Amino acid sequence: MPSDLLTIDAALELVLARAQPLDSELVAVAAASGRVLALDARSAVDLPPFDSSAMDGYAVRAADTPGELAVAGQSAAGLPAGAPLARGAAAVISTGAVVPDDADAVVPIERTSLEGSTVTVEGVAAGAHVRPRGGDAHAGDLVVEGGTRLGPPQIGALAAAGAATVTCARRPRVALLATGTELRAPGTELRPGEIYESNTVLLAAQAVTAGATADVLDSVEDDPDATREALKRALAADVVITSGGVSVGPHDLVRAALADLGAEEVFWRVAVRPGKPVAFSARGRTLVFGLPGNPVSALVGFELFVRPALLALQGAREPGPRYLPARLAAAVRQNADRDELLRARLRMDADGALVQPLGGQESHMIVRAASAGALVLVPRGTGELAAGARVRYLPI
Ligand code: AMP
Ligand code: MG
Repeated sequence: MPSDLLTIDAALELVLARAQPLDSELVAVAAASGRVLALDARSAVDLPPFDSSAMDGYAVRAADTPGELAVAGQSAAGLPAGAPLARGAAAVISTGAVVPDDADAVVPIERTSLEGSTVTVEGVAAGAHVRPRGGDAHAGDLVVEGGTRLGPPQIGALAAAGAATVTCARRPRVALLATGTELRAPGTELRPGEIYESNTVLLAAQAVTAGATADVLDSVEDDPDATREALKRALAADVVITSGGVSVGPHDLVRAALADLGAEEVFWRVAVRPGKPVAFSARGRTLVFGLPGNPVSALVGFELFVRPALLALQGAREPGPRYLPARLAAAVRQNADRDELLRARLRMDADGALVQPLGGQESHMIVRAASAGALVLVPRGTGELAAGARVRYLPI
């Protein structure tokens, strides 16, 4: 029985095959955290751009140390180099200042004593406390490779290397559509049979952390015309994410509406729990993810398929999902037919990550899932994974 549904990996491969990088744009480095670099970025300058001092102290010729040296001139950060250093002399120098020509070392101030215009310095080796020009990077060196998602260290490096702007894929535009006659907006009174609509806020939050912009459309009732009309508008986006309406019930209308609108269904149903009825289709360059309505199924489906697609659309070299290693804190039974993603509390101890599956693993239990830090992958099988077993998880 396990063989008739697509595996997670096979489904992901089909998704990624459709997720071609979007066009790119110039982005200010200051606004580029979380963006994916489209092209290799190279340094505009040598870094440091000149031999500079790593300490406050005296620039010296190492061969003159230890000894008593005549204080001659000073070099402060931000000023051009002064005169070359004469033999037997020392120049006052501050951290980040240009090391004068003919000086080859800096003696930190703590290892000197000044009397009048003579300074007694301890011995230092040539090169001591000097940051050589180009010691971090040379002009033209690679600073960040294209396809990298930029974070704080990368944008700091880009700015240091002289970049004011970088070329990044534009942000994917995601349209979110919840389907279900029972859905009401939070903040309103529920009537019998109704529930609060929570998937669009959940999915929008996920989409934004994946670098996309999210546009939430008005929810639609389980009505074929309303569903088709809403989807018609949604299809102008790069990525459409629907929630609900992809199962086998009479009110599950999303797949038929998409077919009416000319979308090609790439797959429907994956051997995963929760979230089996996930549907994936494409129309032109627009990708459509039909996620099941149960909130935990939507959350999991997003992490398995949508986040990697959004990153691939931005040209990310490694779109994920990025599983991390952990140990199980308690034994779990495998599901015979489907790989399972268990919501688990995540703890770090001296041996690394420890994941404790939460009570309440049903796919409607979003409140239980709210204390999870991890989705633990439990491969399908007929046995049990023992406490302490090595597993992989997705951080959430
Ligand atoms: P469906 O996939 O449409 O069969 O929905 C499965 C379950 O998820 C049902 O209990 C729905 O009421 C619930 N559900 C569907 N959409 C949402 C939503 N946007 N927010 C919260 N729950 C939902
Ligand atoms: Mg429904």
